[in-house]
Amino acid sequence: MPELPEVEVTRRGVAPHIEGRVVEQAIFRREGLRWPFPPGLSELLAGRRITHTDRRGKYLLIGFEHGTLIVHLGMSGHLRVLPPGIEPRKHDHFDLVVSGPEGRQVLRLHDPRRFGAVLWHANEAGPLEEHELLRGLGVEPLDEGFSGALLHRETRRRNAPIKQVLLAGDIVVGVGNIYACESLFRAGINPKTAASRISRARYDMLAEAIKEILAAAIVQGGSTLRDFIAVNGQSGYFQQTYFVYDRAGVPCRNCGAPVRQIKQGQRSTFYCAQCQR
Ligand SMILES: [Zn+2]
Repeated sequence: MPELPEVEVTRRGVAPHIEGRVVEQAIFRREGLRWPFPPGLSELLAGRRITHTDRRGKYLLIGFEHGTLIVHLGMSGHLRVLPPGIEPRKHDHFDLVVSGPEGRQVLRLHDPRRFGAVLWHANEAGPLEEHELLRGLGVEPLDEGFSGALLHRETRRRNAPIKQVLLAGDIVVGVGNIYACESLFRAGINPKTAASRISRARYDMLAEAIKEILAAAIVQGGSTLRDFIAVNGQSGYFQQTYFVYDRAGVPCRNCGAPVRQIKQGQRSTFYCAQCQR
């Protein structure tokens, strides 16, 4: 599943090909994905210039003067930039055909499991951050506003395990299952610990770990950027070296004790009982 780093790397990969370009055509090949495609969207976008790209959590935002296209990659989606004239494959559901100095290019959404989304937020509907999918989101983990102080302050009444509080996304966005496991390991915090019982000092370490791990994943993803936009590229989600994630029973890279796997809210948690207290 694409996580925040993949979405950010995708944004950085497609941005130079679509920013400032004019949409010639928006092509939808089915009624919708997770939700129906907004009716009339092709007409709304045709002839309009893409002003910028942005990201909020795992939502890719393609900005126009009159609104914002909100794209989510779901469980299995990815975007590619292609030259014109390449026949769509199965599961290629949406094309944005743009024209610019280098001629015509196609931004194509491929989503086999169809949990992704393409939605429209018109400027006249109000501020983008008030969109129903965006307004409940926590702070961006790589922004200045994210810190141990914030985690500490926002968890004083949260008795759920810290792992689940991170995944909930209402305090901080983009810390998915993999990154939650890895950052708790790096900060030495047991994922079962009630969020309200973790000290400010330990939250400082956790916030630092989250920032470092996500930033490193984006840097690493940048080096595999070509996979995202290659004509014949596959999904391109990058594999990283994990300390605990998906390593059940394998010796901890730090202390050698076997990594444990438990279920928390239907999701697998991996941790080292020696290193994480
Ligand atoms: Zn260990």
